[in-house]
Amino acid sequence: MNAIVLSIGDELLIGQTLNTNAAWMGSELNKNGVELIEVLTISDTAKSILEALKYAESKAKLVLITGGLGPTKDDITKKVFADYFNAPLIENKEALKNVEGFFKRYNRDMLPVNKLQALVPTGCEMLLNKAGTAPGMWMESNNVVFVSMPGVPSEMKYLMEHEVLPKIKKKFKLPVIVHQTMMTQGIGESYIADKISDIENALPQYIKLAYLPSPGIVKLRLTGRGENEASLLKEIDFIFSKIENRISKHVFSKIESKLEEVLGGVFRDKKLTVSTAESLTCGALASRITTVPGSSEYFSGSIVAYSNDVKINQLNVSKDTIERNGAVSEEVVTQMALTAKSLFGTDYAVATSGIAGPGGGTDEKPVGTVWIAIAGPRGVFTEKFQMGKGRDRVVEKTIFSALSRLLQLVN
Ligand code: ATP
Repeated sequence: MNAIVLSIGDELLIGQTLNTNAAWMGSELNKNGVELIEVLTISDTAKSILEALKYAESKAKLVLITGGLGPTKDDITKKVFADYFNAPLIENKEALKNVEGFFKRYNRDMLPVNKLQALVPTGCEMLLNKAGTAPGMWMESNNVVFVSMPGVPSEMKYLMEHEVLPKIKKKFKLPVIVHQTMMTQGIGESYIADKISDIENALPQYIKLAYLPSPGIVKLRLTGRGENEASLLKEIDFIFSKIENRISKHVFSKIESKLEEVLGGVFRDKKLTVSTAESLTCGALASRITTVPGSSEYFSGSIVAYSNDVKINQLNVSKDTIERNGAVSEEVVTQMALTAKSLFGTDYAVATSGIAGPGGGTDEKPVGTVWIAIAGPRGVFTEKFQMGKGRDRVVEKTIFSALSRLLQLVN
């Protein structure tokens, strides 16, 4: 069963609001076996909405619409929706009670315009919106289901979860969709594809493999469609184990997870601790590590040593070492990591130093040059990287590389 999402709103077209509704709906529909074939983002004009409704009706069995249901003049979706079905608007008692209750709860005066929110097209099923005042509307025409919902993300989600998805599951016979994800690092997608090409070529039609790259990480996702969840899962597990055998040293998790979460699990299990001394990343590495709930069990603290003075005074890096080698050097990060390890009394300490740019690069050390050191129980690991250009990207890649090397060392 296929679906189209119509996202209505000029604010989406001019980039003022990110279309998170469509992304969320796409993910929920997919989990439930509905194939989202298109997302159309259109302006708040009757012409655009009418044309989009006509187009969507010709292509999909389910049309999910968000936006433009509010009481203000620019919110015209409901009127156009009613015109499209030739179904005059009438007051819905239950919807009116909901609007009145909403204003009473918040002790606010209800304006006549708010009463208009209780109007719905004749013949549509009103979907009670307990998260707001604009009701959802379920309309069936020519074997196509149209659902109109408010644009406010929390209201749309409420209606999808409590009304729309349960009704869709009841009305349509949907296939079972199973996803399995494997997280890899330290290998590019084309190299993975090369190593597993025979496995990929032999996949049955109902199982698809997707490569989802992000800096430093490639996520592999197998998606199976069918009728029997258990047998699909078994088949996907078997294919995944074959893929894993080919690239085992690059797999850091067999479920969808972030590097810092996997690292946190290992530190917790092994009862290890870590701290950081950060120049280039300026606390961002510590911040990333502590996005994991419970990270206080293994993360002690960080020294942000952006200036040479802090490196010298707080991290025992000698002035002479900086003068001879530069602040972005193996010698400096090694000392930063060793001092942090002993200051914080942790099993591991990670230090970063680099040139994020756009200025500051030289022929010998161009922008993007990064040194990482990790002091641990078996000595100090150091590595030089070339992270390319773009301040944010250099920092992001450094965080990733530091976490990934740390994971390799503790595993
Ligand atoms: P309301 O009852 O609040 O008027 P509405 O149905 O009229 O709801 P809109 O006026 O279109 O909805 O949007 C309300 C809010 O929801 C706006 O702040 C808008 O930025 C946000 N919003 C609208 N559409 C989307 C979307 N597709 N993704 C994320 N946010 C959205």
